[in-house]
Amino acid sequence: MSKICHFCGNKNFKTNNVQYICKHDNKFLIVNDVPCLQCEYCGEQYFKADVLKKIEKEFYEIHSFGKIIKTEVTVPVEQFMELQVA
Ligand SMILES: [Zn+2]
Repeated sequence: MSKICHFCGNKNFKTNNVQYICKHDNKFLIVNDVPCLQCEYCGEQYFKADVLKKIEKEFYEIHSFGKIIKTEVTVPVEQFMELQVA
């Protein structure tokens, strides 16, 4: 394989399963254990097109068609300007 990392130019990659966060218009989907190739130097993650397509489809089914999902998390949201220094 002659793939080169777009960020650091490294040529060594490892396969890994990672958490992928999909976001459109303030709607989110988190998918765990998504297979990817990860740069061994900088950690940049590369996903196959069919993997991303699958996640996009799931996102659309959940947010547009109300597909029932197994687990939901509540995520805190802050405005950076409102953060107080302790
Ligand atoms: Zn890299």
